Amino acid sequence: MISSRKRNLEETKTEEQKKLRQDTDAVIQQQKLHGLKNQGATCYLNSVLQVLFMTPEIHDRLDPESQKIDQELRNIFVRLKKRTCGTEKITKTLEINNVSQQRDAADCLDLILCKVSSRVSELFEGQLTYTTECSEGHVINEETNPFWTLPLSLRDNPDETYSVEEGFEKVFQIVSYSGDNMVYCQECEKKTEATSGCEMVKFPRILILLLKRFDFDYNTMSDFKSDCCVAVPSELKTKDKKYKVYGMVNHMGSLRGGHYTATVLSKEDHTWYDCDDSHVTQSEEQLFAETRAYNSRTAYLVMYRASERESEEVKEQQRTRRRVGEKDEPKKRRMHEYIKKSGEKNIHEDALQPGKSSEIKTNTFLITFITGFLALIVIIAMILTALSRN
Ligand SMILES: [Zn+2]
Repeated sequence: MISSRKRNLEETKTEEQKKLRQDTDAVIQQQKLHGLKNQGATCYLNSVLQVLFMTPEIHDRLDPESQKIDQELRNIFVRLKKRTCGTEKITKTLEINNVSQQRDAADCLDLILCKVSSRVSELFEGQLTYTTECSEGHVINEETNPFWTLPLSLRDNPDETYSVEEGFEKVFQIVSYSGDNMVYCQECEKKTEATSGCEMVKFPRILILLLKRFDFDYNTMSDFKSDCCVAVPSELKTKDKKYKVYGMVNHMGSLRGGHYTATVLSKEDHTWYDCDDSHVTQSEEQLFAETRAYNSRTAYLVMYRASERESEEVKEQQRTRRRVGEKDEPKKRRMHEYIKKSGEKNIHEDALQPGKSSEIKTNTFLITFITGFLALIVIIAMILTALSRN
């Protein structure tokens, strides 16, 4: 009796477990990603499209009215949610005529960002300012350049594992010039010691790193492909900005030929997937599950997304700054400089110059005083006239 009840209980338990498993399978099935057919050698395009598909931020920004590639991307993203798709219309819009010729995935991404409406491409746009200053503090050179992908050179790391985190930090390191490398400063009118640095002045929402596996070797004066191992960190930090990894485009093979795949993190089920043309499978090894960095010999483009919590914190800081009026100071100074440069006289200049503004105050006071004084004399005169009549 007892044993039969126990058996029944066990059966119910197994039934429940089975049902739960079925439900879980259904969810996975539902969220399963779909692949893209290869037209010949279009794996470079498929990999880029898969990482863009995994960037939901761009989906709502695609403008169906625009004459650009937006409409085609929108269509393929809608279909990709349900089944494996072809990319014929995309290659046609991108004017890729020879689909049997392998191309560079980074170039392909650039091509798409060039052809997409600006509301989409602006998500990827960052700006770097390079400044060179002499030891006296004179600015020798300053330029600001926009970027969609930030290239990192793997050249100096032939054997060891290349740390992407260190490579990224190196971009912003100060470089000193002295001795034979001194720089000419026009203000000092001589060659002086100098420093140069780079600063990210505009942070992209989506930060793409380009690990330069295809490069030029000046020793052998020839192109090369590097298969060196890179440690891709799950997070990147710069100033008060934090980025989290969510996708990679991988290249395996040689300089002349090879194959591209994508490894993407689904925002829906927080699972990493391997996208190999029409085959999409859950990654065997879930990246970053146990370590902060993922070692790869194939990672070529790495996608990072600005941490939402972090951007909220930054926004809040800006709001606070605006409330206490700190932010207006540099703006005013910039405006003052602008006016000084343009040499124009206008109301802003008066408002910005403390001396002028007090002059205006004094004038206003004088006018009020004289008007009041005159009015008083008129009143007294009227009273006197009235009294004399009486
Ligand atoms: Zn100088």
